[in-house]
Amino acid sequence: MKECAIKKIAVFTSGGDSPGMNAALRAVVRTAHHFNIECYGVREGYNGLINDDFTKMGPRSVKNIINQGGTILKSARSMEFKTSEGRKKAYDNLQKYGIDSLVCIGGDGTFTGAKIFSDEYPDIKVIGIPGTIDNDIFGTDNTIGYDTALNTAMDAIDKIRDTATSHNRVFFVEVMGRDAGFIALNSGIATGAVDILIPEQKDSMEDLFNNFRKSEISGKSSSIVVVAEGEELGGIYELAKSTKKEFPDFDIRVTVLGHIQRGGSPSCADRVLASRLGYGAVTGLMNGENKVMAGMRSNKLVYTPIVDAIRKHNAIDEELIAISEILAI
Ligand code: ATP
Repeated sequence: MKECAIKKIAVFTSGGDSPGMNAALRAVVRTAHHFNIECYGVREGYNGLINDDFTKMGPRSVKNIINQGGTILKSARSMEFKTSEGRKKAYDNLQKYGIDSLVCIGGDGTFTGAKIFSDEYPDIKVIGIPGTIDNDIFGTDNTIGYDTALNTAMDAIDKIRDTATSHNRVFFVEVMGRDAGFIALNSGIATGAVDILIPEQKDSMEDLFNNFRKSEISGKSSSIVVVAEGEELGGIYELAKSTKKEFPDFDIRVTVLGHIQRGGSPSCADRVLASRLGYGAVTGLMNGENKVMAGMRSNKLVYTPIVDAIRKHNAIDEELIAISEILAI
């Protein structure tokens, strides 16, 4: 049998939290235990590496967390890790515990930190697990937390639709996605939005107004417009103001869904994805993978160089945009 490439791992969650991070942590800890690899949990992302906040973890340390949102290890944004002094402190702590590998659960910022660290300290192996609600990471069809966030957005918009219909109102609903429109496009299709505004697509006020005119002609009495945080027409309040100017008779309301989309118990799909990626991260390290991210593509576990996961982005499906427009009549 091939000799196992690792002996002790540390795992942490970093950047914005996402539902399913706990399920990924559980899978990492239990897979490590299964293969007799020692496992440490690090609190508060890179801050914990720097501040020596390590806890030895075993199968019971992760009981009853598969269904919990957030992250029991807590997450943080660490400015100190962006300095070489900070990274040296992190390395010294890893040396102290004899840790040879890092499992980093987070988004592209987290992976950038891991890549820089691994370039400086190549004796520490690193592997990423994509945990972010935005689904903008190349190398995996879905990121952990995306499905849950999408369903949360859909449920909320369904409820808004009930009140919109009762009062013949127009609602602008902002969902998360500063750089990526996955949540907006998919929740918009799932809730029958009259228009969906995303950062990846150039939209104009005139297009939006034309869609309102078309819906009036086709007899719609209420409308929902789903807007990604990062759309480029000036923000949701501006959109509402300009629309009111153009259509003074419209009864317009604005709802910003905000952090509700990050919370909650992870969906079944996210729990299973997190379990597979947590397992895949540990077994990948055991088989010599390094500087890669574990992801699922077409239902297969794949490893993508971490530089590609950082630099490339999942593209929005153009056909999905076309479908959303055709169905919004
Ligand atoms: P999300 O996509 O949910 O925001 P993220 O992982 O992209 O998650 P960031 O805050 O961008 O979140 O990054 C998390 C942490 O990674 C940062 O707080 C920092 O500690 C580390 N990091 C990011 N960029 C660098 C860098 N250039 N050098 C060193 N560390 C970095």
